[in-house]
Amino acid sequence: MKGYNKFKRASVLILTLFLLSFFLGAQTSPEAFLKFKVGADRKLADYNQIRTYFQKLAQESGKIKVVNIGTSTLGKPIIMAVITSEQNMGKLDFYRKIVKKLRDPRIVFPEEAKKLSKEGKVILLITCNIHSTEIASSQMAMELAYKLATGDTPFDADKVLNDVIILLAPTINPDGQQMVTDWYRKYVGTKYEGGRMPWLYHHYAGHDNNRDWFMFNLSESKAVTKVLYHDWLPQIHIDEHQMGSTGARLFIPPFMDPPVPTIQPLLWRSVYLCGANMAYDLQKNGFKGVVHGRSFTGWWIGACDDTSWLHNVVGLLSEMASVKVATPIYIEPTEIPQSYYEKRIPFPDPWPGGWWRLRDLVDYELALSLSLIKTAYLHKEDFLYNFYQMYKNSIEIIEKGEPFAFVIPSKQRDYPTALRMLDILLFGGVEIHQAKEDFMAGDRLYPTGSFVVKMSQPYKPYAQALLEKQKYPDIRQYAGGPPVPPYDNAGWTLPLQMGVACDRIENPFAAKLEKLKKVPSPSVTPPRDHFPYIVLDSRMNASYAVAFSLLEKKAEMYRAKEKIKGKEFKAAAGSFIVKNTPEVQKLLPYLLEKWHVPAYGLENISDIPKAPLKRPRIGLYQSWASNMDEGWTRCVFDDMDIPYTTLHNKDFKATKKGKKEKKVDLKANYDVIVFASESAEIILSGKPSPTSRWARYFTALPPEYEGGIDREGLEALKTFVEKGGILVALNNACGLVFPSREIAKYIPKDFTVPVRNVLEGVDRSKFFCPTSILKIRVDNKSPIGYGMPEEASAMFSRSPAFATWVPSGEWDRKVVASYPEENILLSGWLLGEDTIARKAAVVDAKYKKGHIILIGFRCQFRAQSHGTYKFLLNSLLYPVIK
Ligand SMILES: [Zn+2]
Repeated sequence: MKGYNKFKRASVLILTLFLLSFFLGAQTSPEAFLKFKVGADRKLADYNQIRTYFQKLAQESGKIKVVNIGTSTLGKPIIMAVITSEQNMGKLDFYRKIVKKLRDPRIVFPEEAKKLSKEGKVILLITCNIHSTEIASSQMAMELAYKLATGDTPFDADKVLNDVIILLAPTINPDGQQMVTDWYRKYVGTKYEGGRMPWLYHHYAGHDNNRDWFMFNLSESKAVTKVLYHDWLPQIHIDEHQMGSTGARLFIPPFMDPPVPTIQPLLWRSVYLCGANMAYDLQKNGFKGVVHGRSFTGWWIGACDDTSWLHNVVGLLSEMASVKVATPIYIEPTEIPQSYYEKRIPFPDPWPGGWWRLRDLVDYELALSLSLIKTAYLHKEDFLYNFYQMYKNSIEIIEKGEPFAFVIPSKQRDYPTALRMLDILLFGGVEIHQAKEDFMAGDRLYPTGSFVVKMSQPYKPYAQALLEKQKYPDIRQYAGGPPVPPYDNAGWTLPLQMGVACDRIENPFAAKLEKLKKVPSPSVTPPRDHFPYIVLDSRMNASYAVAFSLLEKKAEMYRAKEKIKGKEFKAAAGSFIVKNTPEVQKLLPYLLEKWHVPAYGLENISDIPKAPLKRPRIGLYQSWASNMDEGWTRCVFDDMDIPYTTLHNKDFKATKKGKKEKKVDLKANYDVIVFASESAEIILSGKPSPTSRWARYFTALPPEYEGGIDREGLEALKTFVEKGGILVALNNACGLVFPSREIAKYIPKDFTVPVRNVLEGVDRSKFFCPTSILKIRVDNKSPIGYGMPEEASAMFSRSPAFATWVPSGEWDRKVVASYPEENILLSGWLLGEDTIARKAAVVDAKYKKGHIILIGFRCQFRAQSHGTYKFLLNSLLYPVIK
């Protein structure tokens, strides 16, 4: 009997499972596919598995289609799932056309827009895991897709999917997802489990991959931007992240003050609606510790979801409390900060502490994503009509203080860089016109060919915020108290960063304009063969790129010490003179075409003061602390075809062969060594001091990655400079040669520059400048200032400012750039400008035969500040020192 009962129970179970799978469709669950439950402790699906799972699900369900939206930096396909009803699936192009129409109220009247909003489907984009260690959303995405495909949702999935088209990207940084998973799996079960990786999780940008969303340096930002503003035009977009472990369990919008002023009020109200619904649905289902209106501000343009706001797309952010990648953590109740321990109106249900696991993150993220899908469905027509309405406002309404247009004159110091800026604007969806005749605007006459960005356009909030100067509101902790720092940049003005002339025009003007489909690339013809010499103007960044390629081919080259005046051209001091050999003649047409840069012919160079130039052997230091500025430096080098060798700690130290020790000779292999912005302490020891507030983020690394270049490395650098090497220190790395308390023990005898950081130890109440753009004066007759204008804009971000003095011994110094006496701020926020007035920003320090170049701001900031690249490029191409 017993056996029979067992048999009966088993067959009932099998039948139930069969019927269940029949009703649910024959889709494979993530658990069945992965052989573990999504979010299980210490288990991760890697990108290959995620991609394969989505493809399998798409084969099994008519509600899912997988599209390829681009290729990652390291060559992986970036996938996105389209999830909607089967009826919609057959008509995707039709629905895409509807939203495209709604975006341009110049061709659609409100009546028609109402009709289209009824007929259309709301498009919702969910992007996951841009930050690779914030890995939960990449796992959650599989379960979310499965639930939607099988109808296992808190709403009627058939109804909802018939009104909503969901675009779900399980990770928008597949390279990093794979790296983090591989690293985690390698060390699971060891003392390094869940610890940090010694390199960036995006090849160039690391965490800064979410700072690139108006510049589009990275192929991942390009791929998603195409989805957002070119191919799919979603009305709602959420980007799912993670934050620290001990505060709230989840942040969801609304955001906190201040907002970017150009963003539409209806946009913020829509964000509020979605956020409030998420908070409500989460609370209803017992999720504790959800907060809104804190930590994350409305003042930023460079992040994935923020750039949506500026394009009239309801951009949302979710931030889950993290675990150690996939390893659970226990949080003592006493470790929860007071502000997340007490009840507050935007935080009515604090989490009490205890165990916290990856599956918790998955559950919250599923709940918030499903809530947002429901909101999209409930307000479908509104979202579509608001989409139209916001573009209509952008085109029709000029608010107080808003300009009529921005003009980018055709006459530029660095025309190829100006074209590059226009290219970036165009890709971000900005409408640009070009003048077919001369025209007057403001009080100026602009020549034919000048570019006009009219503010009356669908993406006005974005265009204006990128082109105008930011004025960050003076927000204090309390009246007269210390400033409250912005979330990221206070200022980002693109023309200032790129060194492109751009005028703000307040009042309407008339001009004969033509809308640009593509940014024109001027045709450049190399000078005729019979010129014995070629000149490349140092005012253009592209000239440097051409110079590097020519040096690579061993061209004979010089840098002019003064301005050059030819028959038909003028070139600035520091311009490149190239001997026009048959080899050069062969290369030049391709190079000039690639870089859209002109070259001029010259008959005779005997009267021109000049210094010979050699192909520099460049070393770029890479610590094991995953330094983003190092990544961006590589990005600039790769972009400009500048060859370099990556140097690690061991390259600064003696090598042992048997019992013999071979001292390191850096000068034998390198002419220039570059240290990207990084704290001197980390460069020297691999860690910040144990008392620093950053120390706890520096978890132990496997022994081969521990330590820094050490005193031995700094000794080797001293010898390198003595022998004529050029040591380049960017921003924080300048601290390497200051005798500060923390690093005093590392500094070799006599190796301290006659320079001091005047901002060291200065309190926030006296001086405060969160990532902002400042004015500098440049000596463009000095080799490091070649090609720069006399007045330029520099990106100041946790930067030093220098005082120099008359040196002694074998030292000398030359101030290349400095801050002016007053009106230093160009864009962003600056308090206490007196502290840096008349202080040096770039110093060329000479020691024995070599140089130490201190660049005290972010001259290649996130590969955005093209306007100050030349300080770095000049350091690499320092004329041969005799
Ligand atoms: Zn993040």
